Amino acid sequence: MNILLLGSGGREHALAWKLAQSPSVERLLAAPGNPGIEECAELIGLNASDHAACVRFCQEHSIDLVVIGPEAPLVDGLGDSLRAANIPVFGPDKAAAQLEGSKGFTKDLCQRAGIPTGGYIRTTSLDQARGALDKFDAPYVLKADGLAAGKGVVIAPNRTEAEAALADMFGGQFGEAGAEVVIEEFLDGEEASFFAITDGTHIVPFGTAQDHKRVGEGDTGPNTGGMGAYSPAPVLTPDLQQRAMDEILRPTVDTMRAEGMPYSGVLYLGLMLTESGPQLIEYNCRFGDPECQVLMMRLQSDLAALMLACAKGELESAEANFADETALTVVMAAEGYPASAQKGGAIDLGSAETGGAKVFHAGTAIKDGTLIANGGRVLNVTATGANVTEAQKAAYKAVDAIRFESGFCRRDIGHREIAREMEQKAAQN
Ligand code: AMP
Repeated sequence: MNILLLGSGGREHALAWKLAQSPSVERLLAAPGNPGIEECAELIGLNASDHAACVRFCQEHSIDLVVIGPEAPLVDGLGDSLRAANIPVFGPDKAAAQLEGSKGFTKDLCQRAGIPTGGYIRTTSLDQARGALDKFDAPYVLKADGLAAGKGVVIAPNRTEAEAALADMFGGQFGEAGAEVVIEEFLDGEEASFFAITDGTHIVPFGTAQDHKRVGEGDTGPNTGGMGAYSPAPVLTPDLQQRAMDEILRPTVDTMRAEGMPYSGVLYLGLMLTESGPQLIEYNCRFGDPECQVLMMRLQSDLAALMLACAKGELESAEANFADETALTVVMAAEGYPASAQKGGAIDLGSAETGGAKVFHAGTAIKDGTLIANGGRVLNVTATGANVTEAQKAAYKAVDAIRFESGFCRRDIGHREIAREMEQKAAQN
């Protein structure tokens, strides 16, 4: 088949790398792509926000499947435009993508379907939001309703900071995305991600992961798009995965279908593992970045075949198989990220990939024949091992083979799980 992949990050490089390995793929095209994606796909110029141009391109190039990587085109309804022209799409339509596009929509759905999540109030003015704070205790969780490039959530430690954050949000900090603010109960526990692909009826579990949102070691400093991840996440035991499936995923998929908004594509559950069990923090309507990179490293099944079956509503007897090993990815970012990343720094990948590691490109470009940094998160250095400790060792060995003087990375990706592995080892001795 001919596949068109849309996106330009590390997530899309990992998807392109895996799709290119599929025996059923004849041609893989990508837009806009990046220098890493160009190693496994033909790059084309196509603007995902021009739906008519995307449809025309697919018709002229006999595209059998469009894979939409990031959330913005999904929330914008690109899936609807392609489906209206009978082009199979991996990714939800606009109505179903509200699971990521509107926090208030998802909270209301959870309430209707009895899904465990924090209590909440939707507010549409600063006065109303200030009043709503009375119903919650510190720390206050404040969320801009719409897409805010991963920056729309504020956890305020006290009332003064909560009121200041609300004033910023209603003052236009996130544009239209902040016209509504959801105030939410703070949930205590460890976070983990659970993935599934669904055609609107059937659900295929698609692995677990944990990421590292803060820029600094020991989980300090400002939030980022993610500084590293590993898969699987042993904290999500088979029992907890089953609970997430029965208590969260199944009721979501069934309710969306029953209400005329069947969800098709990957559904990414951000979970808080609380004392009373897994609770939903958020849904994403696409793969996580960098979680996708570690999932693709372990995936043994034919990704293209699974995505096509998903797009066609044929997941009934499908399953996704993953290698038992652990994959871990370290994000190398440009100096100054996340506040103001310094672009243009030269990169030499050296022998990073010789030991079986894979370097996925995120924000890179080629200038005068040299690979350079062209974004905040630049490279995703990914390796595998028997456990998190071993995968981490292999990933940092690859990181150390790379010359990227204006770049940096966290040196502790996987630290929580590595501490648990050390405890287990000590207990055995
Ligand atoms: P989100 O964009 O919804 O994933 O939120 C970003 C981060 O805020 C999450 O990864 C959590 O660390 C934190 N967070 C969001 N909602 C809550 C909550 N209700 N309780 C505690 N932490 C939360």
